[in-house]
Amino acid sequence: MRIDFHTHSSVSDGTDPPAAVMRQARTAGLDVVALTDHDTVDGHQDALQELPPGLTFVPGMELSCRLDGHSVHLLAYLFDPADAALAAETETIVRSRNERARLIVARLADLGVPVTWEQVADIAGDGVVGRPHIARALARAGVIERPADAFGPAWMGPGGPAYVRRYAPDPHRGIELVRAAGGVTVLAHPRGSGRGWQIPGEAIAGLAVAGLAGIEINHPQQDEATRAELAELAQSLGLIPTGGSDDHGELTGFRIGTETAPAGSCQRLAERASGAAPVRG
Ligand SMILES: [Zn+2]
Ligand SMILES: [Zn+2]
Repeated sequence: MRIDFHTHSSVSDGTDPPAAVMRQARTAGLDVVALTDHDTVDGHQDALQELPPGLTFVPGMELSCRLDGHSVHLLAYLFDPADAALAAETETIVRSRNERARLIVARLADLGVPVTWEQVADIAGDGVVGRPHIARALARAGVIERPADAFGPAWMGPGGPAYVRRYAPDPHRGIELVRAAGGVTVLAHPRGSGRGWQIPGEAIAGLAVAGLAGIEINHPQQDEATRAELAELAQSLGLIPTGGSDDHGELTGFRIGTETAPAGSCQRLAERASGAAPVRG
């Protein structure tokens, strides 16, 4: 059983449409794939419509949270997509991200950078406009070499001239909202390299008490030693170990199916969820 619990489509900041992500999942030899776009379930319907035979689809989302001023990502699965409170929260997050994107582009204009809102919106297509799209626009304009350079303190990173803070709920609230919608949550890339801050073990223990179901161990930014540490932590806290590629199409170089979750993890998560069920193609 090959499971990839973490993928993005062009509905958020991935580069491929949901249906293409599903085809790639099957081509990569996966049996189970979750679509976890940032703060939106808008890609689910398209993914389901062209679900390849034999592939099981797990509806998901990656919820943007903030703990003590630091970004924390929660993977949410199998919640009721029509739940009003969760939908209202994700709308607030998306609206705030859009406003931030506009503010960043305005600041870049003040700095004399030749990137327009139209260029950024064009890169985002139908997706939620976010900083990755601005980063790509900056690289295209030749202002920076690689999109990743945009996230440092010289540009959009904390302390940078184009840094703008946006709304994100506390992960305890995120866990509660997803639970109330019948879903389960998994802490995404808790020790992902290159992410600056790393969530302390005590904070993870606090989230476990709040109802966190699992922890992402297999992730392209976590090496073998880190995975061993996280597996131990998962064991001690009773959290389900999971994994996924964090595929964003062409954006990050993390490709679908290159990281997988332990075989029993899908069933273990599904047993704890009541808001939706995996769908077999
Ligand atoms: Zn993430
Ligand atoms: Zn992700």
